[in-house]
Amino acid sequence: MGKTDWSAGVAWMRGEIMPIGQAAIPVTDWGLTHSDITYDVVHVWDGKFFRIDDYLERFEESLRKCRLSVPQSRDDMKDVLHAIVARSGFRESYVSVVASRGQPRTAGSRDPRDCENHFYAWCVPFVWVFPQDVMARGVRLYVPDDVHRIASDSVDPTAKNYHWGDFTQGLITAKETGFDNTLLLDVDGLVTEGPGFNVFMVKDGAVRTPCKGVLGGITRKVAMEIAVSHGMQVEETDIPLAEYLEADELFATTTSGGIVAITQVGERVFSNGVIGEATKRMQQTYWDWHDDSKMSEPVRYE
Ligand code: PLP
Repeated sequence: MGKTDWSAGVAWMRGEIMPIGQAAIPVTDWGLTHSDITYDVVHVWDGKFFRIDDYLERFEESLRKCRLSVPQSRDDMKDVLHAIVARSGFRESYVSVVASRGQPRTAGSRDPRDCENHFYAWCVPFVWVFPQDVMARGVRLYVPDDVHRIASDSVDPTAKNYHWGDFTQGLITAKETGFDNTLLLDVDGLVTEGPGFNVFMVKDGAVRTPCKGVLGGITRKVAMEIAVSHGMQVEETDIPLAEYLEADELFATTTSGGIVAITQVGERVFSNGVIGEATKRMQQTYWDWHDDSKMSEPVRYE
């Protein structure tokens, strides 16, 4: 028998560890048929999980908000995550925990309470939301006027989810019109977030980020801590697009890339089209904090 190839990634499903290519959920799982699923993503950098308890705490809250229940405790989940990353050998990795509504115990049942909720996890090599060359010059965002972020009282954006219909439409138009990515407004014209990232503005040395209609990003939280540590005022508030476009600097935050400069929104160019100084300082601190043992947990590779 040949050696198993773990290089594409590793999954844990129903108590078994397998190469990512073998991991699958049944076609009748409500996670697939109704996007009835929640997930989270933590990253491993230089062989260490960053802020793992923040991510797992958010995942537990998402489970509660979605009324999903899985038998795994926080420690069980951690054991699974250590085991799959150790098996992969990845030093830098994108690590996902997922809980799906599952399959109905009685075929064809339309009652979500009949479904067997299930937890699974997987890891792949580190994923960057924005390509390296785009991060180096700053992201150019497209703001559609015909697609809005799904209403928060329809799908709660604070429970991390796969309802990406709005983002996907925005992304397709963004790519077709030469932009790197998309940023969605809500129906009232307030800035929300993009597919996989929160957004911030810097104005007169203070930092602002949307207060509602967005995921409570862990990188968003870390960025606010960094801003405070740099002596900057931080405000979570409503940000109409017109106000956002008056910023001195803009940046995005994401587990898949950290703090990333935004240099263009629509036709408007920011910080002369280069990465702003406040953003640069925050990026430096973000990566420095990965070496802080209070924020990082070494992967148990053995
Ligand atoms: N907003 C959305 C919709 C996301 O999917 C994500 C991450 O995937 C974020 C924001 C950023 O959150 P985090 O910093 O926890 O990665």
